[in-house]
Amino acid sequence: MTERFDTIVIGLGGMGSASAYHLARRGRSVLGLEQHDLLHRYGSSHGLTRIIRLAYHEHPSYVPLLRRSYELWHALSADAGEQLLITTGSVEGGDENGPTFRGALEAALLHDIPHEVLDANELRRRHPAFAGFEPSTRVVWQADGGFLLSERAILAHVRGALAAGADLRFRQPVRSWEPTADGGVRVTTDAGTFEADRLVITAGPWARTLVPRLGALAVPERQVVGWLQPTRPELFTVDRFPVFLLDVEDGSWYGFPVHDVPGFKFARYHHRGEPMDPDDLDRSANAEDEALLRAFATRYFPDGAGPTVMLGACIFTNSPDEHFIVDRLPDAPQVSIAAGFSGHGYKFCSVIGEIMADLATDGATRHDIGLFRLDRFSA
Ligand SMILES: Cc1cc2nc3c(=O)[nH]c(=O)nc-3n(C[C@H](O)[C@H](O)[C@H](O)COP(=O)(O)OP(=O)(O)OC[C@H]3O[C@@H](n4cnc5c(N)ncnc54)[C@H](O)[C@@H]3O)c2cc1C
Repeated sequence: MTERFDTIVIGLGGMGSASAYHLARRGRSVLGLEQHDLLHRYGSSHGLTRIIRLAYHEHPSYVPLLRRSYELWHALSADAGEQLLITTGSVEGGDENGPTFRGALEAALLHDIPHEVLDANELRRRHPAFAGFEPSTRVVWQADGGFLLSERAILAHVRGALAAGADLRFRQPVRSWEPTADGGVRVTTDAGTFEADRLVITAGPWARTLVPRLGALAVPERQVVGWLQPTRPELFTVDRFPVFLLDVEDGSWYGFPVHDVPGFKFARYHHRGEPMDPDDLDRSANAEDEALLRAFATRYFPDGAGPTVMLGACIFTNSPDEHFIVDRLPDAPQVSIAAGFSGHGYKFCSVIGEIMADLATDGATRHDIGLFRLDRFSA
């Protein structure tokens, strides 16, 4: 007999585990289907940590969602009995006329976010690891920035969802789904067929395999991250080193203090601009990847450019405007999608989980997700 649920969630990475958690805690019967193991390393949410920052240069309308994300991360930490968010402060900037500095300042002013503007000298005085930036650099310093323990947070969402009664099955790739005549959905895996009133698709880099209309709208890209041992580790501690997102000559870079792994973690957004198929990704990092990363550290964080600890590949899934895609499908409104997180989505997993639960239970959400509508690409 076909098993039936209120909601099926496809993909139990960052977004899907949060969605299953919120749905189950609302008393919905939830089936979560994940193609790989729990905490696998083939998608977008592994690599231990993810930055969270409030003065959001990408667009001011992310700020209310961020405020709710922070609340939900704190609630999840309390629920899990462990600290999942570590606050370090954040710096965002680059050239004073550049998009990152201007955008962060605009978001801070518009939303009354306490902040300070620092020049390169003041940045270096307060945080001496930031030693190599051009004198013209300007940053928005903001106290709430920090990082999330991304893999621990997925575990916390999964444990919470199971405790609330969700049925989560791993190593169960979904082969297809289809709307049913009664307005629900039918989902097929190698193990069988399942039906539900609602479907939530949180498939990360594989979203376009399940939703063909995302073909050119959610494009996977190889992203490489490095961890180098600082030669002066005392400058890279959580209490002395804020997370950063800084524009320099060759692009936007982001990084973290040393935490757990004994290395300064950093990367360039859109590393080497390599779109790829998530099932065909070279997950090892090579000498060219390492050289690019090391050149940045040597120039801008010279005390952070010691021996390599780890390099790893992960996947961005980019939308054309780099804003998220969170919507119901127009031709199948019982299906909601969350995709195209464009390298900056993790910090929102907690609130996206809540939004997906809203869309699946009520067909609407109190959160403003107007920026993420699918039809913005139809014009
Ligand atoms: C290197 C790197 C650094 C980043 N840094 C930051 C940061 O500092 N801050 C930040 O906010 N964001 C950051 N991001 C972005 C953020 O990590 C992603 O936006 C987020 O993790 C996306 O989560 P997701 O749930 O969409 O994808 P995933 O976590 O990949 O989950 C999708 C899941 O769906 C499963 N799935 C797919 N198809 C099927 C199927 N047919 N059947 C069953 N299961 C399926 C997959 O196996 C996978 O587990 C970074 C991303 C990368 C790669």
